[in-house]
Amino acid sequence: MITRRFVIALALAAVAWPAAARAQAGAAPDAHQSLTVGTATAHRGEKATGVIHVPAGSDPALDIPVVVVNGAKPGPVLALVAGLHGTEYASIIALEQLIGRLDPARLSGSVIVVPLVNVPSFEQIVPHVNPYDHKSMNGSYPGKADGTQTDRASYAMTKEVVDQCDYLIDLHGGDIDENLRPYSYLVTTGRADVDRVSREMVLAFGIDHIILADDWPKDPAASRYLHNTALTRGKPSIAVEAGHSGTVEPDDVALLVRGCEQVMRYLHILPGTARSIAHPVWIEKVLTVSGEQPGIFYPLVARGTYVASGMRVGYVTDFVGRTLQEVRAPAAGVVMFIRAVPSVWKGASLLDLGVVKEDSQP
Ligand SMILES: [Zn+2]
Repeated sequence: MITRRFVIALALAAVAWPAAARAQAGAAPDAHQSLTVGTATAHRGEKATGVIHVPAGSDPALDIPVVVVNGAKPGPVLALVAGLHGTEYASIIALEQLIGRLDPARLSGSVIVVPLVNVPSFEQIVPHVNPYDHKSMNGSYPGKADGTQTDRASYAMTKEVVDQCDYLIDLHGGDIDENLRPYSYLVTTGRADVDRVSREMVLAFGIDHIILADDWPKDPAASRYLHNTALTRGKPSIAVEAGHSGTVEPDDVALLVRGCEQVMRYLHILPGTARSIAHPVWIEKVLTVSGEQPGIFYPLVARGTYVASGMRVGYVTDFVGRTLQEVRAPAAGVVMFIRAVPSVWKGASLLDLGVVKEDSQP
């Protein structure tokens, strides 16, 4: 999932609408007769595979796999990214499926698919962070060329993927220790044109619980998160989450695959009409309850449960069975995720509670 801990940046973004979108709107020549991302170059009507090479620095080099699907007809460029957290498996497998489903002959526009950014996390089964530098790979954007591997990978993703796309979807899910119900993020920027399209993208994606936020960093030089890096560069973008506790459930994978294809219909990259969700549950804030000390967590509710304020949703004991902490809902709302494993340390996330927006109209 995406852990939101940051200092609010107040600088206003002064960014240009992407050249590709301008070309699409007018009669400008086809900007993407060929599209190159990393070592993958696809001409119109082709699908190409390659890697985004992150050079070695103070720690090893990294090759991030990438697929470029360049549609037979011109249109916008959509980037689909998963595996910033390499053990959020359902989101990674969803993009693996989508690679096989994308037929360039049917596309008007292009899709850049990056199914697994954090390859070391995936290979070593290390949740949340890159094992080389212990940084979240969704926390250092836009990155830098001379930092640790996460910084350098973020820099390469910004240059190769964010800068070349018009729209972006960042796919996540519950990590190994997160029993998570599916939800999306709609982050508003204050730019009406960008916010309108992001909103239509999240409705087209179709997950029925949507977290609203307007306080993410506005400075393109300190965007922190991948999809916020696109937003601060004027590119409508969303983040979505499905999957839980290290599983690859068909329902979660299908939700993500279908959602990406719905957004592709909304953007007219795929033929057909997007059927947007009409009445989502809008979540106006998320309250986190954390572990107060090391111990063993016992959940008492399932993900997705609607709970009353003060309801007991779990408890923590020491290693000889004495209760250390009662975990109660800090407000009325929905359990967005609850801890999926017994291990607890001071500061470990036990519960994310979503508070539903009263009128449910953003
Ligand atoms: Zn994640």
